[in-house]
Amino acid sequence: MAQQRTLSLIKPDGIEKGLIGKIVARFEEQGLKPVAMKLVRLGLPQAEAFYGVHRERPFFKSLCQYMTSGPILAMVLEGENAVAKNREIMGATDPAKAAAGTIRKDFATNVEQNSVHGSDSVENAAIEIAFFFNAFEIQAYEWKKAR
Ligand code: ADP
Ligand code: MG
Repeated sequence: MAQQRTLSLIKPDGIEKGLIGKIVARFEEQGLKPVAMKLVRLGLPQAEAFYGVHRERPFFKSLCQYMTSGPILAMVLEGENAVAKNREIMGATDPAKAAAGTIRKDFATNVEQNSVHGSDSVENAAIEIAFFFNAFEIQAYEWKKAR
């Protein structure tokens, strides 16, 4: 299977609960390597742009308010089949429906405040990675690998 990259976010509830270490450990232990990482806080226009696909959904306004309510950790994860693997490690959107041992089952508050985001396709991963990271921030890792 192919090496892929995907975008992962630890959402405001995950940061608030002090879960950065635990969540990153799950990715590392299951074969996904962070190759870029930063703590940022989104403004409302940025949250609305990031979740633009959900603009017509009833939860859109509340979702964007929540996503701007505190800092988030943005990461690029790399590994075999990383897009699907990340979704598997995260678990279903609604923690009540998430499988045992997944991040959302173990840590999420509810269907909105569900601790993590993960890209849903290789195509969207490229778009979402470019939303958060410039070439320099990702290449820093490439230079390290080449040494
Ligand atoms: P996922 O994050 O699993 O890809 P979606 O893309 O469907 O899920 O939704 C994006 C985000 O919107 C979810 O992670 C969650 O924070 C929020 N969300 C999704 N469905 C609901 C809902 N029914 N009520 C409130 N918030 C929701
Ligand atoms: Mg989604």
